[in-house]
Amino acid sequence: KAGGRGCYSIFGPHMDAMVRERAEIERDLRRALADCSQFRVLYQPKYFATTGKIGSVEALVRWHHPTRGLISPVYFVPIAEEGGLIRELGRYVLEEACRAAANWPIENIAVNVSAVQLRDNGFAMEVMTILGESGLAPHKLEIEVTETAWMDDSENCAANIRALRAVGINIALDDFGTGFSTFGRLHETEVDHIKIDKMFIDGLGKDRGDEAIVQAIIELARAKGLKTTAEGVETAEQNEFLTRIGCDELQGFLYAEPMSGEEVGTLLKGLDGK
Ligand code: C2E
Ligand code: CA
Ligand code: CA
Ligand code: CA
Repeated sequence: KAGGRGCYSIFGPHMDAMVRERAEIERDLRRALADCSQFRVLYQPKYFATTGKIGSVEALVRWHHPTRGLISPVYFVPIAEEGGLIRELGRYVLEEACRAAANWPIENIAVNVSAVQLRDNGFAMEVMTILGESGLAPHKLEIEVTETAWMDDSENCAANIRALRAVGINIALDDFGTGFSTFGRLHETEVDHIKIDKMFIDGLGKDRGDEAIVQAIIELARAKGLKTTAEGVETAEQNEFLTRIGCDELQGFLYAEPMSGEEVGTLLKGLDGK
């Protein structure tokens, strides 16, 4: 504690403001979850590298705060997790996404799920209830779990993943490559799909190390029969590299940004010719 006072006088006011802002955001988030009208779910398509067609879409939540404007999920999802609000937020996203996708001619819809949700012992049941209500077939739902959440050794996480896969729901490992030792554990827990983190995609065409990592991930995935998606594809050069080495799906601003459900509907109609 020695010198603590001095530190406090330097960082105090700034820290205070941050703590206060965070508390306000958490309070507003709790209120917003009462009717969810400030939230929207956007969908970002993922394209098959071989055919250029939309294979699936990923649901991404947005919060339109009445005074602060659009707030990024990178900022408010962790606050929801720490404030005990992620279950409610997660349920809203799942319900919206499953309902929207029930009539879309796509392989599946992917929904991001937090480690906190996955640790809940009622999670798998909740997902099945939502599927039942929305009419979406289980094999048309994919749950994206971050590498860190997947590494969680809690028995509940493993049991949820098993229960979800048992009914045909797919599990994708998100942000692959950003955690540690996942490579070694890929065989232990079951997973269907890996999404290579944008961090590595950014280096394609520029960084030999990143190119080698991406190539190794894709080879490993193929050897294990797992599907691969590259996230954050922004340039023609990245696109060419990924297609050449056999990445299954491509997602990123080069193809499409996250869009509303109506826009997805229009896009799918156009492509389908129906
Ligand atoms: P993520 O799951 O890795 O999602 C990819 C993020 O990258 C999205 O940001 C997407 O809009 C953005 N992105 C996609 N393509 C490109 C590209 O080509 N260039 C660039 N610069 N960015 C691209 P977003 O929507 O802001 O989401 C950020 C993160 O917030 C997500 O990362 C995910 O971890 C989390 N998140 C979003 N929605 C949810 C949700 O419903 N539940 C949970 N638990 N987390 C969510
Ligand atoms: Ca994701
Ligand atoms: Ca499967
Ligand atoms: Ca990512």
